[in-house]
Order: sequence, then structure tokens, then C-alpha cells
Amino acid sequence: MLGPTERENPGFFVTTLESALGWARKYSLFPYPFVTACCGMEFMAVSCSHYDTDRFGAALPRFTPRQSDLLMVVGTINHKLAPVLLRIYEQMAEPKWVVAFGACASSGGFYDNYTTVAGIDKLIPVDMYIPGCPPRPETVIDALMLLQRDIQRSKQQIFSEDGGKQPHPELPPLLGGEIDTRIQKPL
Ligand code: SF4
Repeated sequence: MLGPTERENPGFFVTTLESALGWARKYSLFPYPFVTACCGMEFMAVSCSHYDTDRFGAALPRFTPRQSDLLMVVGTINHKLAPVLLRIYEQMAEPKWVVAFGACASSGGFYDNYTTVAGIDKLIPVDMYIPGCPPRPETVIDALMLLQRDIQRSKQQIFSEDGGKQPHPELPPLLGGEIDTRIQKPL
């Protein structure tokens, strides 16, 4: 475990290791596609050969959250689905990143009603927002490259002082506490 002095001045070995870890992490993203609506077509387009996210080391989707570190939330999230999204996020391995793909995931989009969550950042921390309804593949690739830049620049968790958890931003309190994130047991 690092002492206070080592944390302030980590030295050549730790900074080089951090830089290598950042490089490895940004080029070995395993996306988990949480696809719920029409933005899914655009997600498929960007994953296929025309745009080819393999060039960015993010082409291999995993369909279990335990093997993923990039949660792509693609489409509208309603209140009934909110606990499922939260459960998926909690099951993912650390360090992990979240992308809100499209207007609906980012802000609820044009749905101004009681069923739609007004942005997934009401539930989980979001690292990158992609605007558009749906977003163009070029916008998605741009967001992916910006996320990779952020991963490289961020402090890498090397020593598990806090259980290896990635530092996340403080989330604002839920508006009116309207989202019930408890998983409902089947009747
Ligand atoms: S942002 Fe537009 S295209 Fe994407 S899920 Fe919402 S309504 Fe559909």
C-alpha cells in the first residue's frame, strides 16, 4: 500500500506502469451492449465492417456483464427497466466505463412522460454522452476516441486500497425519488 509521500510523488516506476495500464485498458475495451430501442440499428452499423470499431480495440461485445468493462446503453430506458440496468452495471468488472448512446439514454430524448427515465445518469455514472436521435456512426467513433483519451489520462487503479473501485463522480439525488431501483421478485 502507498504512503502519503509516495501518493504525491509516485516516481518513475508507478507512473510508467500507470501509463502502460492506461494504454492497455483503452485498447482492450469489452463492450456490453444494453440495447433497448431504435438506436440499436446505429449501434449495429458502427460495429460492422463499414466503420469497424475493431480498429479501436472495442469490437468484441460480451453478453455477460462479468466479462465487460464498457457498458453501452443504447436506447430508451423506462422505469421498469431501471433496476435491471443498475444490476447489470453492478455486476461488471472494475474498472468500468459507461456510454450513453443517443438522446434517449443521455436525457430521455423527446419522451417527456412518467414512464421514461430522463437520462441514465439518474441511475449510474456516465463517462461519455453521445448526442443524436440516432447518432451518426462518426459521432460514435468520435466518442469512443474521446473515451480512450480519458481512460489513458485518468488515474489507473493499481493498488486496491478501496477494493479496486474506480473513482466515480457523485451522482445528483434522484428527482423526486421517482425511480424505484429495487428488483421486483416474480409473483
Ligand atoms: S435517441 Fe432516437 S433513435 Fe435513439 S432510441 Fe431514442 S428515439 Fe430511438
